[in-house]
Amino acid sequence: MIETCTSYIAGQWVAVAQQERLPVISPIDETQVAEIAEAGEAEVGRAVAAARAAFAKGEWCNAPVGHRQQVLRRIAQLIRDNADDLAERECRNAGLPMKQIRERHVMRAAANFEFFADFIGQVPNESYEQEAPFLTIVRREPVGIAALVAPWNAPLALATMEMAGALAFGNCCILKPSELTPLEFVPLLELMSEAGIPDGVVSLVNGRGPVTGAALVGHPDIDVIAFIGGTETGRHIARAAGGNLKKYVAELGGKSANIITKQANLERALDAALVSIFSNNGQQCLAGSRILVDEEIAEDFIAKFVTRAENLKVGDPRDPETEIGPVISKAQYDRVLSFAEGADILTGGKRAEGFDKGYYVAPTVARASDNSIPLCQEEIFGPFATFLTFSGIDEALEIANQSEFGLVAYLWCDDMPTVMRAQDALKAGTIWVNTPLARDLRAPFGGYKNSGVGRTGGLSSRNLFTEEKVVTIPLRDFPIAKLGMG
Ligand code: NAD
Repeated sequence: MIETCTSYIAGQWVAVAQQERLPVISPIDETQVAEIAEAGEAEVGRAVAAARAAFAKGEWCNAPVGHRQQVLRRIAQLIRDNADDLAERECRNAGLPMKQIRERHVMRAAANFEFFADFIGQVPNESYEQEAPFLTIVRREPVGIAALVAPWNAPLALATMEMAGALAFGNCCILKPSELTPLEFVPLLELMSEAGIPDGVVSLVNGRGPVTGAALVGHPDIDVIAFIGGTETGRHIARAAGGNLKKYVAELGGKSANIITKQANLERALDAALVSIFSNNGQQCLAGSRILVDEEIAEDFIAKFVTRAENLKVGDPRDPETEIGPVISKAQYDRVLSFAEGADILTGGKRAEGFDKGYYVAPTVARASDNSIPLCQEEIFGPFATFLTFSGIDEALEIANQSEFGLVAYLWCDDMPTVMRAQDALKAGTIWVNTPLARDLRAPFGGYKNSGVGRTGGLSSRNLFTEEKVVTIPLRDFPIAKLGMG
C-alpha cells in the first residue's frame, strides 16, 4: 500500500480527506513510493496558530537550558537508534547511496541536535562595563516562530540543521521539506515528539513550493525564515520575507572552483576532486564542479580523473557497493543531460548503461575552453565535472571568482605563500585548502554573491534565531541633570 505523507500539526498527523494528492516517485525505478496530501493555506494557518499557542504557553521557550539540552540529546539518540529506518526511507526516496546516507547523512542529523545541545550550554553572552558606572548586558530571547524550507538533495542532514538551531534557542518551528522527499520526515517528527518536544513546538507541512511553501513564508505571523535551496527560489522567499519585514537567511546554489596547482599532492587532490563532485550523486551545493588545473599538469590529471570516473560504481543506491545512484527526478535527469549537448565530453554525457528504469546519469566529465560558457557558469547539480586549465595562480583566482556564485572554493597547494594569497583573494564563504567537504558546525556557513544571504552555524544560528535585548543598569548612583529646577 502507498504511504500517505500528510502534515504534522500540534502533535498529530492531519486527516487527509480534503487535500490535493501528489505522487512521490522513487528515482531508483520510477515507482510511486508515497503520496503527499498537500497542505494549503488552511493547514499552514493551523500550523502557525499551533506554534503561536505553544510559544505563548512557554513550555519550550521558557524551559531551562538543561531541559532543552536533554530533549535535543534524546532526539539525537533516537535518530541513531532508528538509523536503519531513516536511511532506508531516504535512500528509497532521494536515491542517495545507502553507504553515504547511513554513515554521513543520518549521523549528521543526530550530530546537528547534539551540537546545538552542547552549544547552548557553553555560549557566552556579551556584557560591557567600560562605560562607567553602567553595566550593559545583552540578553537573548527566542524570536518566536521559525519557517524552515528545505531541499531534497540531503533532506535529513539539512532540515535538521535548521530545526536543531531554531529549537535550541527556544523557538517553535514549522518545516516544509521538499515535495520530492517527504518520506524520511514521517518517523523524524514522531521521534521528536517521543523525545519530549511539546505539541505545537515542531510542525511539518508537506506540499509544493509555490503552494505550501509560499503560504508558509508569506504568513504574517512567522517571525524568521531559514531557507536552503535554489537561488531563484531564494529570491522569491526574500521578497516574502522583505514584505513582512522578517529575519531571513538563505543558503543557495553554487558553482564552486576546485583549483589544482602544480605544487599540490596530486594523488590526494585527485581523490578529493572525485569526492567533491561525485558524492551525493553530484547533487550538492558544495560540489567542486569547476575543476581548474594548472596547464602543466592538466593532461595527466584529467586522464586519471576520467579513468576513475569511468570506474565509479553506478547502481541501485540500496546496494552498499554503489557509489553513484540516480538523480532525483526526470526533470533533473533531462536538465543534467542537456548540458552535454554540444559540449566537449570526455566521458559520460548520456544515460548510464544497464538501466531500463530510473534516472541514472553516467558520471560525466567535460572540458571547457572558456569560463564564460553555461557549463562553467550554471549550477548543473548532477554527476557532471567540468575542467578548465590555467597558467599561474593569478589566472586561476581570476577564473574562480568569475561567477555569480560564491559558496565554497577548494585549493590544492603545498606552497604556503600561494595558499595565503589565494585564501585572501577567493570570493567564497568557505575556502577548503587541501581538504574536501569539512564543515565545522561552530563556524559560519553561507555564501558570497548569489550563493546566499547571511550565515548559519554556531553564533550565526544564535544571531538568526534570537532577538537581542540590551539591558543597562547603573552599578552605583550617578549624577542626573536636574532639569526644570528654575
Ligand atoms: P528549490 O529551490 O527548488 O526548492 C527548495 C525548497 O523550496 C523546496 O522545499 C521547495 O518546495 C521550496 N520552494 C520552492 N518554491 C517556493 C516558493 N515560491 N515559496 C516557498 N518555498 C518554495 O531547491 P531544490 O531543487 O530542492 O534544491 C537544490 C538547490 O538547493 C540547489 O540550487 C542547491 O545548490 C541548493 N542547496 C544549497 C545548500 C546550501 O547550503 N547553500 C544546500 C543544499 C542545497
